[in-house]
Amino acid sequence: MRRRPWQRATIAAQADGQVDEASGGVVGPWQPSTTFLRDADYAPPASGDVYRRDQNPTVREAERVIAALEGAAEARLFASGLAAIAAVMRSAGGPVVVQRGTYYGTAVLAERLAAAGLPVATFDPADMGSLEAACAEHRPALVLIETPSNPWLTVVPIAEAASIAHRHGARLAVDSTAATPIVTRPLEHGADVVVHSATKALNGHSDVLAGAVAVAEPSGDAWDELLKLRATEGAVASPFDAWLLTRGMRTVHLRVAEAGRSALHIAHWLAEHPRVATVRYPGLADHPRHAVAAAQMDGFGMLLSFDVKDGAPHALAVAGRLNLVKRATSLGGVESLIEHRHSIEPAATGIPEGLLRLSVGIEAVEDLVADLAEALDAP
Ligand code: PLP
Repeated sequence: MRRRPWQRATIAAQADGQVDEASGGVVGPWQPSTTFLRDADYAPPASGDVYRRDQNPTVREAERVIAALEGAAEARLFASGLAAIAAVMRSAGGPVVVQRGTYYGTAVLAERLAAAGLPVATFDPADMGSLEAACAEHRPALVLIETPSNPWLTVVPIAEAASIAHRHGARLAVDSTAATPIVTRPLEHGADVVVHSATKALNGHSDVLAGAVAVAEPSGDAWDELLKLRATEGAVASPFDAWLLTRGMRTVHLRVAEAGRSALHIAHWLAEHPRVATVRYPGLADHPRHAVAAAQMDGFGMLLSFDVKDGAPHALAVAGRLNLVKRATSLGGVESLIEHRHSIEPAATGIPEGLLRLSVGIEAVEDLVADLAEALDAP
């Protein structure tokens, strides 16, 4: 019997219909086996499972949920977000054009891949003419964007990036980590590939390391190569991480909506604070791409950055005075986290000394504002 199409909330809450067929459990099983039985004729099981580096049933269930949430034909899990991005870039089949000012780890990865021989060029995401020019000059097989970007909160118009990439014969991949499929579905805007650090809001509980790649069309050389890279190099997610991820995704719609509401409230509050020079959040009317964000996002996500006046010592002092918001890297968890990026990235990235990145969780927003107020207002 064919099922009616489900809303995203239903897909998430029901893990796309996953149950344990063997026991009748309403929660899917965790299958840790590294290897699977063949029959007397040496045929592998009907599932096709032979060895965990190729595929695993628990990993497959998480992939199914991600594909359904993204409106993708297929998704694959990787050992981390960066493992997923590396595989997407390396399987592109030609030069790659990458947005400047991505997550620092992606920028480092791109530099390392370039040093190892992959032709990599960059473009300025504030100027879509710069993407057009980079595509004309470098004839890429793949364009990689990150929207909203971490920690600059740059928003890139996905449909425009897709049409530029396609006009030049390239595919468009979107790192949609800070948005999640609850906020943006890049494939609906013409992208070919979506990547996630599933470590972040998809899982949402700061206890899983995983990456995901979702595609509209699981065919062609790039897709085949992506699967080969994952299997031959073993960049696979563990089944326990996949099981936790499926569990985490059951509430992704509620968590992301609530954190986004709080982030918008906090962004407005910070924008009025006399000790704050700048707030970067796509939900603010003065964000340079607010209109684009409003058109391609449902809500504006849980991530924002703000610059404390008078540079690094003041920003570090503010972070140091927080009692509720935790000083730790990462984002997208149920708990709010703050990070002083200038202490992490080299100054060459241009990261402002006073920038604090705030990943807003699902605590009571009044408590978060009170904590930030105490930290910012202290003499
Ligand atoms: N993409 C973005 C936007 C990120 O913020 C991160 C990590 O912070 C990554 C990718 C890398 O993900 P992972 O830490 O799971 O490798």
